[in-house]
Amino acid sequence: MEELSHFINGQRVKGTSGRFADVFNPATGEVQARVPLATKDEMDAAIAAAAEAQPKWGATNPQKRGRVMMEFVRLINRDMEKLAEALSREHGKTIPDAKGDVQRGLEVIEFCIGAPHLLKGEFTDSAGPGIDMYSMRQPLGVVAGITPFNFPAMIPLWKMGPALSCGNAFILKPSERDPSVPLMLAELAKEAGLPDGILQVVNGDKESVDAILDNETIQAVGFVGSTPIAQYIYSRATANGKRAQCFGGAKNHMIILPDADMDQAADALVGAGFGAAGERCMAISVAVPVGEKTADMLIEKLVPRIEKLKVGPYTAGADVDYGPVVTAAAKQNILGLVQSGVDQGAELVVDGRDFNLQGYEDGFFVGPHLFDRVTTDMDIYKKEIFGPVLCQVRAETYEEAIGYAMDHEYGNGTAIFTRDGDAARDFASRINVGMVGINVPIPVPLAYHTFGGWKKSGFGDLNQHGPDSFRFYTRTKTVTSRWPSGLKEGGEFHFKQMD
Ligand code: NAD
Repeated sequence: MEELSHFINGQRVKGTSGRFADVFNPATGEVQARVPLATKDEMDAAIAAAAEAQPKWGATNPQKRGRVMMEFVRLINRDMEKLAEALSREHGKTIPDAKGDVQRGLEVIEFCIGAPHLLKGEFTDSAGPGIDMYSMRQPLGVVAGITPFNFPAMIPLWKMGPALSCGNAFILKPSERDPSVPLMLAELAKEAGLPDGILQVVNGDKESVDAILDNETIQAVGFVGSTPIAQYIYSRATANGKRAQCFGGAKNHMIILPDADMDQAADALVGAGFGAAGERCMAISVAVPVGEKTADMLIEKLVPRIEKLKVGPYTAGADVDYGPVVTAAAKQNILGLVQSGVDQGAELVVDGRDFNLQGYEDGFFVGPHLFDRVTTDMDIYKKEIFGPVLCQVRAETYEEAIGYAMDHEYGNGTAIFTRDGDAARDFASRINVGMVGINVPIPVPLAYHTFGGWKKSGFGDLNQHGPDSFRFYTRTKTVTSRWPSGLKEGGEFHFKQMD
């Protein structure tokens, strides 16, 4: 069996802890590799080596750092097929979806080529007599990213791109479920010209995460994953004086007004609800049609579409709609929640519980499910299911519908489907959710905007990628300068006004 490694100081390095996690092929259920879980000492050593390498990289001019990103883009494109295959093999998503995962990360690296522009400071000429004032953005030093299993290319790239192009050294602790792509990306970054030690990939679990959170050298922590862990990491990192941005779980509502194009809404719901087996933080998991007629029509349109979905392994070709979920435990959790929905009185309109794929009986496949008449007290409504399960909640009015999205504890993404511009505008303005789609079911912002949820979906004040990421990974220094002709005026004892 393949034994994976860490990537430290420019090379693959075996783990020394003797502890490993199994990496599955979710389509077959087989363990295909094992990944070492680093000790605190291994993590501390990787951080210390990064700290040694960082000053030189931080002093490299931003244009040169941008050029490394430019070459990184070329190499990721060159290896797109290889990356997508490795990604699908460990995650289970289809090859086109895996390419999308790489692509949406790649776009952030493209954005980072603009580092010289993004790092330009501010300058005030003659802020006072003979006085100039300027602000510069400087790297933080060594920073870290802790990432989830569901986007093993995109989210590590979202974090490493801005962190590195700002001049930091970056420690990546990827998900132990699918660590191969992050390791491959680190090798490509080295090939692109990134100096050794500037990007360290240290695999591990809670022990290595805690080592990051407690290490005094680490200046900032970016996290993406489930809400309880996001909250834990935010609290411990900030208690230790670090900057932190921690993004958590989601329960994304899509509101369908009676004037919406129902075919379009049904297509959007099927793609956004079941794509990647529902394992996306921007998946739509709750449909809220307004009015009984709208709800009935939507069910009528959804059922045949859902029953037609093709579930299979990534190797089965391009017409597979979605693959397995990531682990047997994830499958158990999803099916347990489906059972709770039935027990608590929701109407299971499409029942995927008996789904079985011939030849892949040990794979972690879950059939598609559609619930109707879901109410807010049910577990399938309150909890993030993170599987191919769509819940319909019926609302009588627009106000009731928007209220559901507003009152839910998560606030990552949401969408409205309507032909009424006024309603859409009102929705976008009032909704307390970070990313909003208008007739767009998965409104993931592009690289030059920022990505982040509200409420329990995000902790910290700056979003991922876009201009916010350059603020997160730098600190501002402001210089007030005067070049007097000589010391003639004596000391100043009060706060000076610029008159
Ligand atoms: P997870 O929280 O289980 O794991 C995320 C990371 O935290 C992993 O690297 C893992 O090793 C580490 N970790 C897990 N338990 C830990 C512990 N007790 N202490 C310290 N570290 C720990 O999440 P996951 O299952 O990998 O990913 C799915 C979750 O991520 C979903 O909730 C999904 O909504 C969320 N997600 C959110 C966004 C977003 O931008 N808001 C994006 C993608 C995924």
